[in-house]
Amino acid sequence: VPEDYDYIVVGAGSAGCAVAARLSEDPPIRVLLLEAGPEDRNPWIHVPIGYYRTMFDPATSRAFETEPEPEADGRRILWPRGRVLGGSSSINGLIYARGQPEDYDHWRQLGNVGWSFDEVLPYFKRAEGYERGADAIHGGDGPLKVAANGWRSELMDAFLDAAEQAGIPRVPDYNGRDGAGCSYFQTTQHGGRRCSAAAAYLRPARGRPNLAIATGALASRILLEGRRAVGVAYRQGGQERTARAAREVIVSAGAIQSPQLLMLSGIGPADHLREVGIGVAHDLRGVGGNLQDHYQARAVYRCPRPITHNDIAASLPRRALAGLRWLLFRDGPLTISAGVATLFWRTRPELATPDIQFHVIPFSAAKAGGSLHPFSAFTISVCQLRPESRGTLRLRDADPASDPVIRANYLATETDRRTMVEGMKLIRRIAEQPALAPYRSAEEHPGPACRTDAEILAYVRATGSTIFHPSGTCRMGPASDPLAVVDPALRVHGLDGLRVADASIMPTVVSGNTNAPTIMIGEKAADMILGRPPLAAESAR
Ligand SMILES: Cc1cc2nc3c(=O)[nH]c(=O)nc-3n(C[C@H](O)[C@H](O)[C@H](O)COP(=O)(O)OP(=O)(O)OC[C@H]3O[C@@H](n4cnc5c(N)ncnc54)[C@H](O)[C@@H]3O)c2cc1C
Repeated sequence: VPEDYDYIVVGAGSAGCAVAARLSEDPPIRVLLLEAGPEDRNPWIHVPIGYYRTMFDPATSRAFETEPEPEADGRRILWPRGRVLGGSSSINGLIYARGQPEDYDHWRQLGNVGWSFDEVLPYFKRAEGYERGADAIHGGDGPLKVAANGWRSELMDAFLDAAEQAGIPRVPDYNGRDGAGCSYFQTTQHGGRRCSAAAAYLRPARGRPNLAIATGALASRILLEGRRAVGVAYRQGGQERTARAAREVIVSAGAIQSPQLLMLSGIGPADHLREVGIGVAHDLRGVGGNLQDHYQARAVYRCPRPITHNDIAASLPRRALAGLRWLLFRDGPLTISAGVATLFWRTRPELATPDIQFHVIPFSAAKAGGSLHPFSAFTISVCQLRPESRGTLRLRDADPASDPVIRANYLATETDRRTMVEGMKLIRRIAEQPALAPYRSAEEHPGPACRTDAEILAYVRATGSTIFHPSGTCRMGPASDPLAVVDPALRVHGLDGLRVADASIMPTVVSGNTNAPTIMIGEKAADMILGRPPLAAESAR
């Protein structure tokens, strides 16, 4: 017998948790939240630095990978995604950034009514519980707890001083209207614990009798009757089940799996669906296109003082002390996010707003999530914020458990390549400033042999990787846009009762980290699903 609900939300990630929790605030509304992964009981989820353990642990994460990337030396790049309650917000680097106001104004310019910065700002604020309280930019009493003061250190202070010496000002709040400059990161943690979307939204909602949460439940198909979505088929504990949605199905399975689920349901480019033997229910060319991500390259500097996390990791007593400090006081080195200091800056003076971002962290490893180097060192990475390159996501076959075929197409344009090279040069310029002199010895990577632009580009191609921000694969746009998948109310074009709400709807990836924007998308989606008038636009100018 099928189970009956008003709404079914597929995927309990950053957006899905917000959508399900907001919809179920109204007691008569019956909501089912389907999540492929388990409950978020793994203790490392809740320790901020735990991302280092969970990111590639199959118990909490699913390791997708790209096809060989032609412009990145033919390497496959690993793309972990959270597969657990909270989704990627349970394994991410805890950085709280919204991108630039111009990102949302651009979405609005593309025809997405209601998505200008002034219109989305109230949703960022509704989501946020900023530890310093509400102001023109921040929300004070929302569920997503944001710390203004993450873990700090003299090394990170020295980086910020060096950036100032290189002519880049400190910015009081990079989430404000003009975020150009350097600063400490704001982070999604509270009392020394991670604040995932599950912690923020599901924990308070779990007791509601009208919210059912099914874990270990992989949606395999959206059930359509004619042009209307009426439910979801899913696999749980080896059983095939179905649930019916009297009102709507909301797909929040993330930028990889939302387009995958649409295509498995026969919604996507018809020629591709035929190729993999799936009957075409609705030919929608844009599904799985427009894939965007932030590519990052890293420089590693040796540090002459034993003050980095590499030093802590190499010493049993220091490790024990750090662990004890977290257990007793919920502070210390284990509260570190995956970037402590940041910088948003332009690689070319003619640009209106910054086009690169740095993540600076007092440790180093051969690769993200790998063992820390056995010597004292720190990392400065650069990513390009508005890549021109576009990738694609396609089905490998008709099996819902298969990994899709991902082509990020990194570094496909001259601007993308040049921006990364200029970004690496800015890292070096800052590293050479006097403020960092006492903290920096040899440049370990790229190293002194890498000097010319061509050599730097070769390094970027050979070593760069993702900063984990895939988006855009179910892009939002008006009906006049033939490649738009959802309309500005996030309804799938041409169908009824079906929306997508997650990072996949971003028409262009935001100029910063993607968790907070995705949670904002979930907040705004909930109001639109419930037919509520939008929150009044605010001006933070
Ligand atoms: C390692 C890592 C570090 C990151 N660091 C940061 C950071 O520091 N700051 C930041 O802002 N952003 C960061 N990000 C990015 C950010 O976390 C993501 O952009 C954001 O969480 C995406 O949210 P989402 O709702 O689109 O998808 P997700 O949060 O990935 O959620 C999708 C959920 O749907 C589930 N699902 C998928 N398919 C199905 C299906 N068929 N049936 C049922 N369930 C399904 C998945 O298991 C998952 O739980 C990071 C990401 C990663 C992976």
